Amino acid sequence: MGPFRYTALPAKVIFGFGTLAQVGDEIRALGCSRALVLSTPQQRVDAEILDEGLAELTVGVFSEATMHTPVEVTERALAVFEEAQADCLVALGGGSTIGLGKAIALRTDAPQIVVPTTYAGSEATPIIGETKDGAKSTQRTLKVLPEVIIYDVDLTLTLPPHLSATSGMNAVAHAVEALYAADGNPLINCLAEQGIGALARALPVLSRSPRDRDARSDALYGAWACGTCLGSVGMALHHKLCHVLGGTFDLPHAETHTVVLPHAVAYNAPAVPAALARIATALGKNDAAPALFDLAENLGAPTSLKALGMPEAGLDQVADLAVANPYWNPRTIERAAVRELLDDAYHGRRPEAA
Ligand code: NAD
Repeated sequence: MGPFRYTALPAKVIFGFGTLAQVGDEIRALGCSRALVLSTPQQRVDAEILDEGLAELTVGVFSEATMHTPVEVTERALAVFEEAQADCLVALGGGSTIGLGKAIALRTDAPQIVVPTTYAGSEATPIIGETKDGAKSTQRTLKVLPEVIIYDVDLTLTLPPHLSATSGMNAVAHAVEALYAADGNPLINCLAEQGIGALARALPVLSRSPRDRDARSDALYGAWACGTCLGSVGMALHHKLCHVLGGTFDLPHAETHTVVLPHAVAYNAPAVPAALARIATALGKNDAAPALFDLAENLGAPTSLKALGMPEAGLDQVADLAVANPYWNPRTIERAAVRELLDDAYHGRRPEAA
């Protein structure tokens, strides 16, 4: 075992079926009694049912959560939070809703109970990305780390197959980059392998049987493991490219991760063969990059930036932005090689075995 440093993040995690019923107890355990329930417009009905069930413990629902956490939405939510004299947040949904809760917590220090319904993993991270005037900025602060995560597998049964696939691949990406992180450690490596394995086994089952309870349970467990990786160690080229693509061309978050991941892994393969072998083993295959491509393709998920509506003329701009500021990556960031990676991702070419 080589040397390492590891700082564990505080986390209270409740995992199971039907655990939504425990939200009230957790509000009380935090010493709170006036929760604002957050959701997207699409999940408003679920949020209202939760709100009604919690009766006197909530002050209402704010259902305007939007992808990439626009500051103008946060300001509207903050006004509702303050007007209602709320004392905590209950975020019911995916990364967009959790992002809104984090943005309010950043400004108020309000405690958060998070009930994730996708596999994006934001609930387990002290990271917040916010968008203002079209520009996305990200910061890490314990102020936004949720106090309580309640995973209720029942709530994921309705996640549509295409979202299950791309959200699951988004989670896998966190664990993949954790396995070659500069600040990696043995505990996170174990979680990363667990997360990749659980999702690689569950997602193909879910693409055929979206309501398979065992596979849903495995996938949500994998999402927690992968989200914990994202929250604990630094990411690299893959996350940088997705950040640039999402921020500059407003590409959908989970789909972009799904398309870029095999190509980022192929780029890094020569620099980190041992990590790549661990990823391949977790996937149950011989070679990580083509296996990730095949997994996405077999799930019916998009495999090209072209299919996401990315303009080919924008690839040079993405390459420029991806090399503009230095950041850690196991293989040196070279503009020409990154541009080639983007070309492969644009056209959806299957990476070759390393
Ligand atoms: P999302 O939260 O935008 O959800 C996508 C859509 O699916 C929404 O309409 C949502 O209401 C719906 N949905 C969610 N769960 C559902 C369910 N179980 N059944 C039916 N519909 C459901 O998508 P996402 O991919 O979870 O989150 C993306 C956002 O999260 C991005 O803004 C991204 O930047 C952020 N994110 C942040 C972190 C972090 O650590 N800060 C990590 C991952 C993602």
